[in-house]
Parts: sequence; structure tokens; C-alpha cells
Amino acid sequence: MDTRGLWASPDRCCGCGACAARCPRGAIRLREGADGFVFPEVNESLCVDCGLCKRVCGLQNARALQTSGPWYAASLRGDSSLSASGGAFFALARAVVSMGGVVFGAAYMRDDGRLSVRHVMTEDEAGLSSLQGSKYVQSDAGACFPEVERELRAGREVLFSGTPCQVAGLKGYLGRDWTNLVTVDLVCHGVPSEVMFHGLVAALERRYGKRVVDLRFRCKHGGWGHSMLLVRLRPFGETSTCDDEDVQIQASDFTYYDLFLRRMILRDSCYACPFASPIRPGDLTVGDFWGVEDNRPDVLLDGRFDVERGISCLLVNNMHGREALERFGRDLDLCEVEFEDIAKGNDQLRHPSTKPTDRELYLTTFRDGDWNSVEALWRRRERGVRYRVREAAKRVLPKGVRRFFKHLISR
Ligand SMILES: Cc1cc2nc3c(=O)[nH]c(=O)nc-3n(C[C@H](O)[C@H](O)[C@H](O)COP(=O)(O)OP(=O)(O)OC[C@H]3O[C@@H](n4cnc5c(N)ncnc54)[C@H](O)[C@@H]3O)c2cc1C
Repeated sequence: MDTRGLWASPDRCCGCGACAARCPRGAIRLREGADGFVFPEVNESLCVDCGLCKRVCGLQNARALQTSGPWYAASLRGDSSLSASGGAFFALARAVVSMGGVVFGAAYMRDDGRLSVRHVMTEDEAGLSSLQGSKYVQSDAGACFPEVERELRAGREVLFSGTPCQVAGLKGYLGRDWTNLVTVDLVCHGVPSEVMFHGLVAALERRYGKRVVDLRFRCKHGGWGHSMLLVRLRPFGETSTCDDEDVQIQASDFTYYDLFLRRMILRDSCYACPFASPIRPGDLTVGDFWGVEDNRPDVLLDGRFDVERGISCLLVNNMHGREALERFGRDLDLCEVEFEDIAKGNDQLRHPSTKPTDRELYLTTFRDGDWNSVEALWRRRERGVRYRVREAAKRVLPKGVRRFFKHLISR
């Protein structure tokens, strides 16, 4: 793979695609590496060595600043059931489109018959529902950067949301500030590759004998958290929505989700992410306010915030973000907190994900085999007798007794 020094090691490239989108000769394309993650590849016969691709790289040039505050617990006033946490993104995005602006975010698409995640533009409230909810896989964002620029040049208000590295990539691509652009980055612990995500979709389609047309990683029917997936299924060959069926499944039943949550199959750059910190590329940051009950119980007292429905954290990172919140935050309930109150329950605001020792084993298994080999390994290692005993104990033994046994075993 010819990279012309675009990245020295895999952890120096986040795959956002800013370099490919900016190349004036169309000499760069993103290509899947052996582990399924995409990296830019340079076509030497087209490249004129202008160096623009290196200058626009958001990860290596870290276009970001220390968050200035204020910081909030935030919750959408109204129904946030389609959102992963408190619906902060939707509240901001709805205000933008209602004022004639456009919003860019990640949505499911069908590419070559397969479910994938791409950044798309929407300009009305109905279109926002496809952007709501976390899709826990790398989204293809770079392809929409020229569209963002076009809308900005046309003078429209633009909200761009995505992972911090995607926001940094967009800023690198644009190369200058725009007063009509608001960027919202996510607190993010990392992304698996699209190829691995296809493994999850294939496993679901095998289990149900139907096509997966939508997948909500953070279904809130059982409350705010990571326990349930909501999958929309459609008979193969059917195009109408008439026979669609929704099923809820336990997140822990699925290899992909379990490995994702345990940081086992993330991109190399995620373990060295400069934005897993108070240094933020976005004007605003949204995430989950994990641990709010313990770290700021007072937030829950006045009845505006409900842990069952989910509570967002909202970081205002600079003056532009402060103005954006004033203009677009009218549908948000806010309660000011300290940055530390949020960071205490959210490691991703303090340091990048730690690379687990088993990661290499899983990636090698994937590289040498396919997703089915990863599933077989996971079942052997993670769902064997020890796991079943632990789960059975969880169901029948009270927490205190479990803690006593755990203590006894660890001695
Ligand atoms: C890969 C990933 C890892 C995350 N890790 C953490 C974490 O460790 N801690 C934490 O507090 N929060 C994390 N989040 C953020 C969290 O899941 C919610 O997205 C966030 O709290 C916003 O929720 P919301 O209720 O405001 O809006 P929602 O409606 O849930 O959020 C939708 C927003 O997420 C964006 N989005 C969804 N999927 C993707 C994707 N694949 N790539 C880029 N943008 C996407 C959409 O464009 C939209 O802006 C992560 C999100 C992703 C996508």
C-alpha cells in the first residue's frame, strides 16, 4: 500500500477521509486493510506531491482546544426514545433545520445490498430520525465533506456531528473557520470496522432468516444503558415495510457488541486518540452522563431529568459553541455541572481506551479466518462454563453474597 508518508503507523490515521476528499488530483482512495479498517492509499501516477493531504489531516495536526465550559447535564424536552442518551443532539439539530439550516450525521444505508453507515445530509425534521441513535461502527464521513463546504459557501447554517476525529478531519478539510458552521463531537471510546459490523448483521440475519433493515444499539425499552438491541427485520426480497418486524435482543448475546464494549476490536488510532480528553475539536460535545446518580445526585432532584430516559452530558468548548447553544438549545433542559462531575463517570474524557491483551488474538483470528472464526473464539473464551456459572449466580444470589464470594476467590 503506497501511503506517501500519510501515516507512519496505523495509530496515526483515523480513516476519516479528509485527505482523500481534499486531494485535488483524486489520487487518494480509502482501502480496507487486513483487519478490515480503512486507510488512505495513494495512486502514485496521479500524485503530484503537493502535500495538501498531510496538511488537512485532523488527527496529526490536532485541530482542537481545551474545553472552556460551561458543562451541563442535558435532556431533550420531549420524546428522546430514538436517541442513545438524553437526546441533546436531536434538540440542537431540530432547531437548526427549523431555521432553514442543514444537518450532517451518521445514518444506515444499503451499499451493495449490505447495511453500512455513512454520513448524510438532512434538511428537515423527518430526516433527523435516521441520524438519531448510536451506530457503533466507523461511519464513512469524508465523502460528505465537499457537500458540507458547498452548503457553507451557499450561506446556509450547517451542523456537522460525528466522532471527534471526524470533526477534526472536517476542520482540516475546510482549512478555515466558518461562522455558519457548528460542530458537535461525540464522547467516543472507539470504532470497530465496517467489515466486522457486517459480521454482526450476518449473524442476525442467520438467526432470524430475515434481512436486517435497521439496528438500534441502544434500545431504551429496558431503560438507559447498553443492555438491549432493537433490530428491524424484513423478509428477504421484500421492499415494502408492511411485513417489518421488530425484535429486542440481549446485547450480551452478540459477539460484536460484547467485544466493542470491552474495547477489543477498535481501530488502532482509538487507543491513542488525542481527543479522549478535555481537548475537543467540536464547538460542542455530547455524550452520556454516566454516573450522574452518584456524582451529581442533585441533578435528579427537580424532576426534569430521568435516568430511565437517559441523560446527556453537554460540553460547551468555545465561544462559538456558547453562541450556538443560545441559538439552538431552546428544547434542552440544562443543569450546569463541573467538567470533573462528567469525566468521573466517563473515562473517554480523561484518556483513550486501553488496548486489551486479547485484542491481537481476536484481530489475528479475523485476519487469518473470518468473522465466524472470531465468533467461535469468543464463544470458547467468553461464554464457557465460567461465564455460565457467573450469570447463574447473578440471577440467584444477592449482590452482597456475590461480592463475598468474589472476594474469597480473589484471595
Ligand atoms: C462509536 C461510538 C462510541 C461512543 N462511545 C461513547 C463513550 O464511550 N461514552 C459516551 O459518553 N458516549 C459515547 N458515544 C456517544 C453516545 O453513544 C451518544 O451518541 C451520545 O451520547 C449522543 O447521544 P444523544 O442522545 O444526544 O443523540 P443520539 O441521537 O443518540 O446521537 C446521534 C448522533 O450520533 C452520531 N453518530 C451515530 N453513530 C455514529 C457513528 N458511527 N459515527 C459518527 N457519528 C455517529 C449521529 O450523527 C448523531 O450526531 C459513542 C458514540 C459512538 C458512535
